[in-house]
Amino acid sequence: MIKRKGIVASGGVGIGKTYLIREDDLFVPKKSIAYSEISREIYRFEEALIKTRRQISNIQEKISKEIGFDHGRIFEAHFLVLEDRVLIEDVIKQIKNNRVNVEYAFSQSIKKYIDTLLKLNDEYLRERVVDIKDIARRVIKAMLKEKSAKLMSLKEKRVIVAHGLTPSQAADIPKEKVIAFITDVGGRTSHTAIIARSLGIPAVVGLKDITKNVKEADNVIVDGFSGTVIVKPTKKTLDNYKKKIDRYSKEIKAAKKPKIGKAVTKDGRQIDVSANIELPEELGLVKKYGADGVGLYRTEYIFLGKRDLPSEEQQYKAYLNVARKSKPAPVIIRTIDIGGDKFLSRSDVPQEMSPFLGWRAIRFCLARPAIFKVQIRAILRASAEENVKMMFPMISGIEELLQAKKIVASCKKELKKEKKKFDENIKIGAMIEVPSAALTADILAKECDFFSIGTNDLIQYSLAVDRANEKVAYLYEPGHPAVLRLVKNIVADAHKANIWVGMCGEMSAEPTLAFFLLGLGLDEFSMPPPQVLKIKELIQRVKFSDAKAAAEKAVNFSTAKEVEKYLKSKLRKVLDKDFFNFLNV
Ligand code: PEP
Ligand code: MG
Repeated sequence: MIKRKGIVASGGVGIGKTYLIREDDLFVPKKSIAYSEISREIYRFEEALIKTRRQISNIQEKISKEIGFDHGRIFEAHFLVLEDRVLIEDVIKQIKNNRVNVEYAFSQSIKKYIDTLLKLNDEYLRERVVDIKDIARRVIKAMLKEKSAKLMSLKEKRVIVAHGLTPSQAADIPKEKVIAFITDVGGRTSHTAIIARSLGIPAVVGLKDITKNVKEADNVIVDGFSGTVIVKPTKKTLDNYKKKIDRYSKEIKAAKKPKIGKAVTKDGRQIDVSANIELPEELGLVKKYGADGVGLYRTEYIFLGKRDLPSEEQQYKAYLNVARKSKPAPVIIRTIDIGGDKFLSRSDVPQEMSPFLGWRAIRFCLARPAIFKVQIRAILRASAEENVKMMFPMISGIEELLQAKKIVASCKKELKKEKKKFDENIKIGAMIEVPSAALTADILAKECDFFSIGTNDLIQYSLAVDRANEKVAYLYEPGHPAVLRLVKNIVADAHKANIWVGMCGEMSAEPTLAFFLLGLGLDEFSMPPPQVLKIKELIQRVKFSDAKAAAEKAVNFSTAKEVEKYLKSKLRKVLDKDFFNFLNV
């Protein structure tokens, strides 16, 4: 039995046999051709381009239909490569001048193409290299007349194992054949993770070397809740997980009954447990898992990888759709968090030495008020539905919050003049994810209606650990006493100022820490949809007074390990054995 821990990309538990997708580049033979064969090679090239074009269009159509138009647009870059005159002419020139076969000529041209893109100071074009490699593989396959995925002919569903998956590979895989995805590389924000989440397929990424630890058709368990992958499990582990799946499906059914709906502690404290979404298509999951609303809508996903920024109208439609579909539940729309590891496709966004510390989120928006205003107007217009709140990411001090609010006020004025409807009293919140904001929460609280603690960033900034770097991942500890103390300070300052405080970082979905956060008095928890049920049930099964006593003690430990051990022992005491085991803490 081999157990590996990776990054949770999509919740759920999957058990089954593996199917390995190999990354190896296709072998491209070099052959000399005769003068008389030139036209035949050029014809084969044209044929392969047409075939690949058709293939991509089919995938695009399928993905747009199944999970939405925005996902389908991921493939626009593929078409640009297939139509690139410079590339096409270079291949033809090589066939004619060097008298080589078309596969070889094409692979050489693609290499040159990629090298040139990598040298350019353009984030969008550099990001497209993955797509170009994908498209090149397809064109070469078409020319070599290689059979497409064997996966199609499989009789049973499998767990897909790959070093990394491009969005087109992920989309290409027939979903009725997939139990789960596991990969060596990738983060929660990769397109593949988004697609897996949207399809509701369990996925664990960033497992580093999982492809080296499994063979074709090995039995594996993929726990998309905890990010654990178990290869060749023992019978006991397998039985435990089968029970977990059973229980989980029962929970989903039960969650539809209103009496299970609310998260109320045994001694009567009610908490909102909401969900985080990236794209409107994920709203189905918010309902399915019984969340009380959308606690974080990461709007930057409608901006990523596009050549043009979405217009006010396009944004308005997207936000309105989310607001309407969620009604009467609340939706917190976060203004764009561009930068860090998420980039716009425009060349005016420079490359930075430390992007997470650089021109990101509110900093970018305040420096580009024209872009920011378009989004704020769109959010305000959607707020006419009366269940919309707005929040700003990466606030580091009061000036930024005041500047952003000033822009909101000027947009409101404009809309009023234009006689466009919006919610006059829209609630405005600040994400608290920078230590300077956590330590001045009392000052910020006077200027906003709520806080949402972004621990994914708060942890990286307070512990100085890049959240996307696997090498320092062992230092990324949500239970670190420094993090607990910062969070305690934020909650206390919010309550002193009479505003509510939630948490949309992944920390709120860790059962032991959720117990701690409940005890601190956190008012709202927001997490990936599949985690909602478990946390709701946890809250229903404990007393607020027990959590409060545990939280008071937990902040005094010296290390994250001591904190975790203590909270776990408390949970074991207050929960029944079955549920405690189900939590897998
Ligand atoms: C966070 O930082 O905790 C957060 C929720 O925002 P994101 O993960 O999008 O940075
Ligand atoms: Mg953040």
